[in-house]
Amino acid sequence: MKNFASRLIEWQRKHGRHDLPWQGVDAYRVWLSEIMLQQTQVATVIPYYQRFVNSFPNVSSLAAATEEQVLEHWSGLGYYARGRNLHRAAQIILEKYHGEFPQEFDKIIELPGIGRSTAAAICALANHERRAILDGNVKRVLARYCGIEGWTGNKKVEEQLWQVAETLLPPKNVAIYTQSLMDLGATVCTRTRPKCVICPVQTDCIALQTDRIPQLPTPRPRKVVPEKNTTFLLLMHGNDVLLEKRPGNGIWGGLWCPPQVESQNTVMEYIQRNGVQVREQIELKEFIHTFTHFKLHITPLLIRVARKPEQVQQAGSEWLDVQAALQAAIPTPVRRLLQKLILDNQWE
Ligand code: SF4
Repeated sequence: MKNFASRLIEWQRKHGRHDLPWQGVDAYRVWLSEIMLQQTQVATVIPYYQRFVNSFPNVSSLAAATEEQVLEHWSGLGYYARGRNLHRAAQIILEKYHGEFPQEFDKIIELPGIGRSTAAAICALANHERRAILDGNVKRVLARYCGIEGWTGNKKVEEQLWQVAETLLPPKNVAIYTQSLMDLGATVCTRTRPKCVICPVQTDCIALQTDRIPQLPTPRPRKVVPEKNTTFLLLMHGNDVLLEKRPGNGIWGGLWCPPQVESQNTVMEYIQRNGVQVREQIELKEFIHTFTHFKLHITPLLIRVARKPEQVQQAGSEWLDVQAALQAAIPTPVRRLLQKLILDNQWE
């Protein structure tokens, strides 16, 4: 029987994905795609990727953009630290490497937002360098194929998986092999209901042979996700809504959001402090936005104002027409909320 890598390479040539827009491109574009694909599905990424490379076709154009422009292109993809890190990394590449994306693994991994697996994927896919990758999908494939137990985020289990990934690496054709692992994880060895009957490594897959597919990879130990509350103050005047730019750190860093207060009790305090003349106040339905480390309960409070209060027109806040607000760098829950208000005819 052929070894693991040979079977995967053969399978990729016949059945793998060959029409992804970032295949066969330079390191800059491979890097963009790898960052966008972290925690995001291919189908979601494709239009963002295309828009991004149209506006920023190389490192220099990305470095020359403002953070605001980069985040506008990222708006809706989530995990905004990825967009900010891309921008910072482009500026470093311009400064240190004259705008040429570095070739060496050690230089690539030093850039912000790039970990061991991403650096290796760039080296393998763009430069055909012999490097092992270990992203979430690959961890799942290897944990099943080799029957490795334990949560893959655990340091020891992860180290074991890295060793396996290094051992299975073929001597050549590393770019196709890397792509084959990604394709197998995304299309065959999926999280639920893997298609083992068409899998090229089914004959010696330990999870399949020992009937342990539902147990592998071992799920993350359950822990209680903290819950937090916030109230969005949707101050509206005609078709304009008040948005504030959030500080660079923390959730939604650098994005535009409605003013927020911790609870409904502090709404009155905000209104008085900012001299807001309320014409109408409507409490909208609460919704939940889930981050990786906590759940945020959001209560939107729609407040129509008699006039735009001067106190809140300070630096970092702006009245924007709702259509302009939808074009700005806003996080997904704010976009959904504004779109819902348009659908509900809440704009005058
Ligand atoms: S046989 Fe099934 S579980 Fe094993 S690697 Fe293939 S798809 Fe995954």
